Amino acid sequence: MLNVAIITLYETGHQSFGAASVGAWLRQAGACVSYQDLAVQALNEAQIKTADLIALHLPMHTATRIAAAVLPRLRQLNQTAHFCCFGLYAPINAEYLGGLGVQTILGGEFEEGLLALCRRLDGSPQRLDEFARFQTEPTISLNRQQFLTPDRSGLPPLPQYAAVELSDKTRLTAGYTEASRGCKHLCRHCPITPVYKGAFRVVQKEVVLADIRNQVAAGAGHITFGDPDFFNGPGHALAIVQALHAEFPDITYDVTIKVEHLLQQRRHLPTLAKTGCLFVTSAVEAVDDAILARLDKGHTTADFTEAVHLLRAAKLHMSPTFVAFTPWITPAGYMEFLRTIAQLDLIEQVAPIQYAIRLLIPAGSRLLELTEVQALVGEFDEAALVYPWRHPDPSMDALQEAVLKVVQNGDERGLARTEIFTQVWQLAAQFGPIHGSNAKHRYAKLPPISLHSKPAPRLLENWYC
Ligand code: SF4
Repeated sequence: MLNVAIITLYETGHQSFGAASVGAWLRQAGACVSYQDLAVQALNEAQIKTADLIALHLPMHTATRIAAAVLPRLRQLNQTAHFCCFGLYAPINAEYLGGLGVQTILGGEFEEGLLALCRRLDGSPQRLDEFARFQTEPTISLNRQQFLTPDRSGLPPLPQYAAVELSDKTRLTAGYTEASRGCKHLCRHCPITPVYKGAFRVVQKEVVLADIRNQVAAGAGHITFGDPDFFNGPGHALAIVQALHAEFPDITYDVTIKVEHLLQQRRHLPTLAKTGCLFVTSAVEAVDDAILARLDKGHTTADFTEAVHLLRAAKLHMSPTFVAFTPWITPAGYMEFLRTIAQLDLIEQVAPIQYAIRLLIPAGSRLLELTEVQALVGEFDEAALVYPWRHPDPSMDALQEAVLKVVQNGDERGLARTEIFTQVWQLAAQFGPIHGSNAKHRYAKLPPISLHSKPAPRLLENWYC
């Protein structure tokens, strides 16, 4: 029987769907599977030493950077195991991971690939022989898979992960599932684009509901749907939340939906509210139409404003995310970004880290199609796993670093979001020259901040890529 150690590293405070899904497939095939989540546990060296296959889940940039730091230690503990990295960030960093001794890379719909890898290794008398060493599975699979219910037994318990905090400060244990993967859109800055290339794949409704049932039995009072966009397949998504609400009327949930879909599917927003949706994360990215066009986001600033009002009318909170610092942001543009958040009364709904997020240009990014980006970036930085860039105006890079410090300091001290916003505004307003007398006048004073806004429901872990 093959011994498989599945390692997760960082998944924005959630218990992993990807690891539990792979675990179900491999356990059904007879493998002995152990899980380690290094985001909440210390490394179990004994498990690593006895593993035949060590598989690391890389769904995001931060997890991949942590993996790069951990891989040499894992190899030191076990010289003979086969190493695999799976998940969204594995194929786009295949060359780098290969250099760290990873022998198999699986992205996209990876469960079938991991099962095939296990069979390849199990059928090999000496697991490091030529047959076992070389990958025969596709690096990226977009096969339509018949999923199994994720097997979460052996993962750290849900209370060890980020909770959801309601407006009255009540905390709910949060579970996490996925009803789909990939995305039918091709936003230039998105890491999903180079892997899924405009495709998305659904997880069967009964599998999602069984996964939710198991997590509710394990104490979840809230479920985060981690689909890149819940309304890529609105019929599938709505059938799931209606069934969820019929079975568990007290369970709340949150989803991620792009601005364009919020507008197109506006008639379904009341259904989300009625079925227990607390908030909708939306990747707004910028409040400058020229920047949004470069990112190929498919919405304008006016669309964003409309989406905020539509969600409010449906009694849903929007939790917008931004890429505040791009090579195209100007001092006045950054002030306008802050002013728009205040004007739309969104300060309580924006995690302060969003004021400091800097554009990442990972390997395979569609941003590299733009000649202006090609001219801007340096050589690929293997340690950071990005193409580095500097802003043409060095004061904007300095502002980003200063804002990040203010936000980190505010979070550490437990300051209210309004207080952190005020500090960021004051910092930015005096930081660089804001050209034009109109602009100077417009950003001279802090915009009125509603003191009546209650804290919006939120996950107690800031969204990080
Ligand atoms: S809509 Fe969202 S998930 Fe889809 S490509 Fe754009 S940024 Fe990525």
